[in-house]
Amino acid sequence: QRVGVAIVGLGRIAVNEMLPAFMQCKHARPVALVTGDRAKGLKIAHQYNIPESAVLDYRDYDKLAGMPEVRAVYIALPNNMHAEYTVRAARAGKHVLCEKPMANSAAECRQMIEACGKAGRKLMIAYRSQYEPLARALGEMVQERKLGALKEFNSVNSQNMGDPQHWRLKRALAGGGALPDIGLYCINAARFLSGEEPVEVFGNTWSTPGDTRFREVEESCQFVLRFPSGFIATCTTSYAVHKSQMFRLNGADAWAEMNPAYAYHGNQLRVARVVDGKEQVSDIQAGEKNQFTLMIDHFARCVQQDREVRTPGEEGLQDQRIMEAIYESARTHRVVKLAVPGRTRGPA
Ligand code: NAD
Repeated sequence: QRVGVAIVGLGRIAVNEMLPAFMQCKHARPVALVTGDRAKGLKIAHQYNIPESAVLDYRDYDKLAGMPEVRAVYIALPNNMHAEYTVRAARAGKHVLCEKPMANSAAECRQMIEACGKAGRKLMIAYRSQYEPLARALGEMVQERKLGALKEFNSVNSQNMGDPQHWRLKRALAGGGALPDIGLYCINAARFLSGEEPVEVFGNTWSTPGDTRFREVEESCQFVLRFPSGFIATCTTSYAVHKSQMFRLNGADAWAEMNPAYAYHGNQLRVARVVDGKEQVSDIQAGEKNQFTLMIDHFARCVQQDREVRTPGEEGLQDQRIMEAIYESARTHRVVKLAVPGRTRGPA
């Protein structure tokens, strides 16, 4: 029996990526919609064969408790709503797949972990890049030491924000600007690929004076993460440049480059190494499988088999701690030290 999921919030990521991805899933299916726009909800319900009675308003969210066909929720709301809707889902006895960033503060992340733990329900953060086949192939190459000792990770994740009224530019809703929305991918990739946790961060933020988009949140953020082995991640993220998504991972024996990286589709991975005394650059193929489908099916399998998820709440909490340290560093112009948490990740 496939895991029935309620889709909470029918915005761009839910409608354009996740719902189509569900159609290719083997272990999950959408069975309910939660939305403030009933007409939109009914239209999508017809498209995905969801009964009209399973289209709920946000005010009816707690009624999910009485809908046994809904075993889990997928939360695709503005960031400030993630904590509340996760806690209420756990109380209703549902497993939770929550969008990134997990929440707007480490305190909220802890509440979410506690609520799901108490209810005995899974909490997974939708770090889709960790399910993307090329990123996973690269993770395996690193583990097999094909790049040699890892030394540097350089990454950019940027885009140009249009609408100055967008919720992503309001601090209370988004929690911050480019950093929690897209810079987060660089932090998560540096941790995921290296398997290490940073012990020091240094950060800087910038907003162009007079640019009305950035009255409340930062336009850009530049940061450095230092890991115990000496591995260094140097990253930039901006809301005011043409879309740019890439990273270069430099090892002692080889480098790997993804450009684009972090994209929904069409990521590309190249690796350079020395073969018979000559540098050889090769494109790595992993088959273009939909990373959203892989992520949803992983979550559903973990629910069905009561297994630990690969990207649990602790993973989101750790990124939140790092982002808070980056902001503190930007404020104080000092390096901020971070304690390494006991455990942050599920099985690879
Ligand atoms: P969106 O603005 O397109 O959708 C947000 C949804 O929330 C809309 O349906 C909106 O009606 C609803 N909503 C309910 N209350 C609201 C309120 N008070 N203000 C504004 N909207 C409200 O946003 P999105 O791009 O779909 O992002 C949703 C979440 O998904 C965010 O947390 C975002 O970070 C995350 N996201 C993740 C990825 C990914 O690749 N994993 C990509 C995009 C977005």
